[in-house]
Amino acid sequence: MTKRLDTLSWDEYFMGLAHLSALRSKDPNTQVGAAIIDENNRVVSVGYNGFPRGCSDDEFPWDREGGFLISKYAYVVHAELNAILNSPRPVRGCTLYVSLFPCNECAKAIIQAGIAKIVYESDKYDGTDANIVSKRMLRAAGVELVQVDNTIRLSVERRTNSEKNK
Ligand SMILES: [Zn+2]
Repeated sequence: MTKRLDTLSWDEYFMGLAHLSALRSKDPNTQVGAAIIDENNRVVSVGYNGFPRGCSDDEFPWDREGGFLISKYAYVVHAELNAILNSPRPVRGCTLYVSLFPCNECAKAIIQAGIAKIVYESDKYDGTDANIVSKRMLRAAGVELVQVDNTIRLSVERRTNSEKNK
């Protein structure tokens, strides 16, 4: 018998993990996931966009409009930053997989944490000010930027565990 050939590539596997993490996000409009991987293809950390610990998903605003105090932008921690902050070990030299190209604020954290490479999927904000600034800093810092060849889509199916009901 020969081995399976239609398995996920490393890129697909890690981007899939980023997408799985994104499914944890409570943001009604944008769900972004990130995964940090070391040079031996070991998963170091994951993250998704959400409010800081202790800031309730039910009390803080998810709105996109209404000004600084009452829109989500002032409060949300992006997936990339959460993955860096959640990591149990330094991420210097690691690769960051992220479903959306990082903003300028995350770019600063990515650079300072020593992430060597970013593998991203969507770049839907290409050409916006934050995106231009982000790329300018990441390129200046020598962070390798790679867009994946294939877009990964997960489908999750929930089934009630019948064993539990016996
Ligand atoms: Zn960001």
